[in-house]
Amino acid sequence: MSKTPLGRRQFFKTSALGALGAGLAGRTAAAAQDVPGDSPRIKEYRTLGRTGFKVSDISCGFIMDEGVIRAAYDSGMNYFDTAEEYPGHHRVLGRAVKHMDRKKVFITTKLDASNPEPKEAFLKRARKALEELQLEYVDCLMMHCPEKAETLKCEGFHAAMTELKAEGRLRHVGVSQHGTFWFRDPEETMDKILLAAAEDGRFDVFLMAYNFLKRDNAERVLEACRAKKIGVALMKTTPVAIYYTLKSRIEALEKDKKEVNPLYADGIKRYREKFEAAQDFIRAHGLKNPEEIRDAAVRFVLGNPDAHTACLQTQTYEALNAVVRLSGTKLSLADSSRLEAYREGCAELYCRHACGLCEPSCPHGVPVNTIMRYNQYFTAQRREKEAMSLYAAIPGVKADLCASCPGHCERACPYNVPVQGMLLAANDMLSMP
Ligand code: SF4
Ligand code: SF4
Repeated sequence: MSKTPLGRRQFFKTSALGALGAGLAGRTAAAAQDVPGDSPRIKEYRTLGRTGFKVSDISCGFIMDEGVIRAAYDSGMNYFDTAEEYPGHHRVLGRAVKHMDRKKVFITTKLDASNPEPKEAFLKRARKALEELQLEYVDCLMMHCPEKAETLKCEGFHAAMTELKAEGRLRHVGVSQHGTFWFRDPEETMDKILLAAAEDGRFDVFLMAYNFLKRDNAERVLEACRAKKIGVALMKTTPVAIYYTLKSRIEALEKDKKEVNPLYADGIKRYREKFEAAQDFIRAHGLKNPEEIRDAAVRFVLGNPDAHTACLQTQTYEALNAVVRLSGTKLSLADSSRLEAYREGCAELYCRHACGLCEPSCPHGVPVNTIMRYNQYFTAQRREKEAMSLYAAIPGVKADLCASCPGHCERACPYNVPVQGMLLAANDMLSMP
């Protein structure tokens, strides 16, 4: 990979025939032609469950650069994800969609339904989203990460969706889930909520967390999706990114000469020891290239035929090129070995998405999993401002309390994640002035 980020023009040089990309939407892998010169092109499309829409196997998540979104379309990507909670993103995506063939792209946005508002309130918010997107209709409107299965039944939400469909402004209803505030109710897991959504029957598309380090709960949901013909888009597919962004954090902490509470120091020490052990392991197994592991991680999730698209966040042309090249590729034996080695040596550095098993052990009710997710937004997804404001908005206690705690959560974690140190480091970063 080049060290200099690709500009839009350079991207087009390497993705010749870019303007023809949309024409590939709807074609099968066999029909799609590779472009000479190793140009990055989408090569595989999968039917998104009962929507019948053929979506690119690699798709476009929260990307703030309009040029990168347009380049994604030109590469053949045709599934674009947004949400009312992504600051400014509706307008950015809307401007990009103006340059696309609307019929050949699947646009999905999301509304929070945690407050059981009446139909009119949901209609108002949905119409605002459509206006910001400058669209006549969206292909899918999702309930955004409901925190409990009961929320799926929100009458106001469904009444608004029915009305929007009747007006021709909405095609499908969906739901997204990547884990809840576990401490509020440890019974409300991602799989419980999504299995209830599958049974409910009104949700045609799921956007859910799934990766090679967090399989069990997601695979139960994927089986149900197959049975009900629900379309599946995936997020949080590459947990390896977290590991590689920890290095700079460790270095920053080492530069910090201030006196620290011994418990804080212990937490960081345990964290650093695991980090160092993982580095040794990486060296011993030749896993120095994070891109190889990331690529294997994406191939792993797409190896599951019940998954239809991996929704990735590529903020630069260079990163976009790298993931487009994964389209249509299969998990190799070498990939499997890399993932197995990574799982063996580094899995303890990953706080699993949609987990929260340790949270009931915290006497203060710190939302461990949520904080670690915001931490990932900051470190791996370059969504610094959003991550910091989300952290500031957490109701109740935050990870500053972890500095004076014996670390009950860490002992309760079945995956041996040194999470106290990670929480302290996350608190430092997410509360920076
Ligand atoms: S620290 Fe462990 S138990 Fe707690 S949320 Fe993370 S992975 Fe789950
Ligand atoms: S370190 Fe202590 S205060 Fe912090 S989340 Fe864990 S149990 Fe709660």
